[in-house]
Amino acid sequence: MTQPKKLFIKTYGCQMNVYDSERMAEAMGGQGYVQTDSPDDADMILLNTCHIREKAAEKVYSELGRYKVLKAERPDLKIGVAGCVAQAEGEEIMRRQPMVDLVVGPQSYHRLPELEAKARSGEKALDTDFPEEDKFERLQARPKAKRGPTAFLTVQEGCDKFCAFCVVPYTRGAEVSRPADRVLTEARDLVERGVREITLLGQNVNAYHGHDRGLAGLIRELAAIDGLERIRFTTSHPNDMDDALIAAHGDCEKLMPYLHLPVQAGSDRILKRMNRHHTAEAYLKLVERLRAARPDLHLSGDFIVGFPEETEADFQATLDLVEAVQYGSAFSFKYSERPGTPAAERPQVPEAEKDDRLQRLQALLVRQQRALQDAMIGREVGVLFEKAGRRPGQMVGKSDYLHAVYVESDGLARGDLRRVRIVESSPNSLRGVLA
Ligand code: SF4
Repeated sequence: MTQPKKLFIKTYGCQMNVYDSERMAEAMGGQGYVQTDSPDDADMILLNTCHIREKAAEKVYSELGRYKVLKAERPDLKIGVAGCVAQAEGEEIMRRQPMVDLVVGPQSYHRLPELEAKARSGEKALDTDFPEEDKFERLQARPKAKRGPTAFLTVQEGCDKFCAFCVVPYTRGAEVSRPADRVLTEARDLVERGVREITLLGQNVNAYHGHDRGLAGLIRELAAIDGLERIRFTTSHPNDMDDALIAAHGDCEKLMPYLHLPVQAGSDRILKRMNRHHTAEAYLKLVERLRAARPDLHLSGDFIVGFPEETEADFQATLDLVEAVQYGSAFSFKYSERPGTPAAERPQVPEAEKDDRLQRLQALLVRQQRALQDAMIGREVGVLFEKAGRRPGQMVGKSDYLHAVYVESDGLARGDLRRVRIVESSPNSLRGVLA
């Protein structure tokens, strides 16, 4: 019997990359590959890269450098780079790291089996096209094996917004939505395999137009699937948050009361320079409407501090906006230039000021997050249990609001969705007892 070949995938970045890595592993399953947790015994190493963070490409080059020894020991080992750095750097990767056998962009990974075969025959394989064909159609059917209770499902890719700091429109291309019937088929399939919660993914997920009633229409059809208990979606742009989606937050029980709604900054001057096409006031009004529809909605956001030309007054406007919203969680970063984006050319804020602002913003966000978490004590929430905790008999799951919740109780199993009364709040998690 031939031994299966082993594939090691290292995934960087967002949930969309996690989903893509799963699909790439499945595609390579058809070529006789099984996944391994270690690069040491792999026949193929694939880095699924992200271009959002600072010095992303340099980090990929240095990671590749670590595999040189493995490649020298085992010349048959194939090394590939996928994802947004692959798209942005293309052939340059093979020029700088000649041991790389294949480079594949995020829109062409359905061609990975052909590229791997080409690499096995000793040729270099590069594909960073934005092909006409639908990669999801070309990917083989997903395997039927049982899986964990939560899953990501990509429904939309690409972005037409061109925020002045962001590379996504260049690396992922224009906005494309998957047809609703195919998303629904994939969702039913996931539910048959044991999935109870699906997070719909897209760079601009609420710009989804694969259903004639947009993302809200898709969510309502998903909500009708028996066995699917929870629906989430990420990441949203405020300008695409339409009436139907706001209404769904109010009356679609399976749509969880947690929304990641990035605003990036609180100053209109900076929002304009960021090319966000909305004001701080418009964002706050939107939050008000969402909370009118779903009063217990927990919001999360993304913030960039020290965007080019940001003054102390601009930064204060960001703090004011954060005070007004009261976030349940948030991600905040110092601005750093992405080559090829408009903001990279503008006058930069000194690093020390960026550091200082980031510290002040994060202190405020942590206070808010902690206060909202502490306010959960005594409340009853739904928890979907995902895995065993560290202590015997302990299980950990996610609340409706996406908090990690620990419960000690024999008889709880992975995939159970139970009501839990919260009894304790720690910095990054809650503890509860079955209600
Ligand atoms: S909307 Fe999001 S993905 Fe699109 S350009 Fe702006 S930050 Fe990037």
